Amino acid sequence: MNRTLLSSTLLAAAVTGALAAPAFAQQAEPERSILEVADNLYRVQSGEWFGMALVTDEGILLADPLNLDSATWLKSELEERFDVPVEYIVYSHHHADHASGAQVWPDATVIAHEAAAAPLTPPEDAEALAQFEGQFGSESPFGGTRAPDETWSGTEHEITLGGETVKLIHVDAAHAADMAYVLFPEQRTLFVVDVINIKRLPFIGAGFSEAELDGLTDLAMAQQFDTVVPGHGDIGTPEDVERHRQYHRDVIAGVQQGLDEGKSLEEIQAELTLDEYAEWSAYERHGQNVAGAYAYLTAD
Ligand SMILES: [Zn+2]
Ligand SMILES: [Zn+2]
Repeated sequence: MNRTLLSSTLLAAAVTGALAAPAFAQQAEPERSILEVADNLYRVQSGEWFGMALVTDEGILLADPLNLDSATWLKSELEERFDVPVEYIVYSHHHADHASGAQVWPDATVIAHEAAAAPLTPPEDAEALAQFEGQFGSESPFGGTRAPDETWSGTEHEITLGGETVKLIHVDAAHAADMAYVLFPEQRTLFVVDVINIKRLPFIGAGFSEAELDGLTDLAMAQQFDTVVPGHGDIGTPEDVERHRQYHRDVIAGVQQGLDEGKSLEEIQAELTLDEYAEWSAYERHGQNVAGAYAYLTAD
């Protein structure tokens, strides 16, 4: 199969698809696209959510099926373009807005960290089951999250498919107990979801932890990659991963300086605008982040 031709076809299809969508549907339908980010490695978009697809001669590995609508669309896109089936689906973490929709590929093996199994297993108690349905089951707004067929534990797990290796790296105690980075070593590409934002403001709340931020950033930076694909926002580089950490540091340092000078939260918010981050998306949450850092620094 001619990969170069294929990728330009995919790109063209993504563009045409967006243009061909009827005007009335544009608000209701999330933007969908498939972008080749490295050899045989694609980024899949469903509105502001992103997943990955690695296409090998022996099958496809998906990282995060996103949601039922996106997965249904992606299934037909993949079948049209490739003659290999989806073999594996891995979850970055179990949250329903990233991990739903795998049921459209019943023959694929779903692999997740062992900490994902409990929250994704339907409980027997009727009341708990109703709650589960609303969050992870077929009643969920994301269409339902399939429990893993196989789980892994420890710090790393490798999957081989079509002569290629995909590495799952456990991100300890950050965002979700089962959180993992997905590394595509041949493509030098790292997929990170929810714990690192690229050119997009994170949330800083009173529960912020510098140790956690350093732990998860150091873990990402220890991987061999040139490209980082986030679950939300733009594609970036290792430098962008460091800039995400630096933003936190700049907010914390600025708020600490204001506190040392006896300033009120309102005064600090007015002065600490950190304009160098103004072009990042979600910059409108900067003032809230200053308040979050203030709460973090003034907590007992
Ligand atoms: Zn999440
Ligand atoms: Zn998310």
